[in-house]
Amino acid sequence: MSECLFCKIAAKQIPAKVVYEDDYTLAFYDINPQAPKHLLLIPKLHLENILGLADDTAAHMLAAMRCIASEQDFSQGFRVVANTGEQGGQTVYHLHWHLLSGRHLGWPPG
Ligand code: 5GP
Ligand code: ZN
Repeated sequence: MSECLFCKIAAKQIPAKVVYEDDYTLAFYDINPQAPKHLLLIPKLHLENILGLADDTAAHMLAAMRCIASEQDFSQGFRVVANTGEQGGQTVYHLHWHLLSGRHLGWPPG
């Protein structure tokens, strides 16, 4: 079995507070939230970052984001972030989109 943390969450070997799931993707609360609602959306199959993201998987992930934005009431606004690589601030090397909402989010990021 992979040692990857998010593969283990996708396989339900490590618990997470799941808010959305389909055949290809899983979304759950970030353990260290940076906004009142801070979710992580991952592909179930391991991918290190967006550079390996195939078009069909990307389409599934965008569809999942639209569902989540509706179900989680992101109507006041939200932010989607994929930290990529060391300088991009990535700490877990399984592709994930941060979905942040519930407060005014500053720009530019630090
Ligand atoms: P990154 O730093 O790679 O962009 O994002 C990784 C995110 O995963 C961080 O926001 C961190 O709080 C979150 N995280 C790390 N370990 C766990 C965990 O075990 N469970 C959950 N739900 N989130 C985690
Ligand atoms: Zn993984």
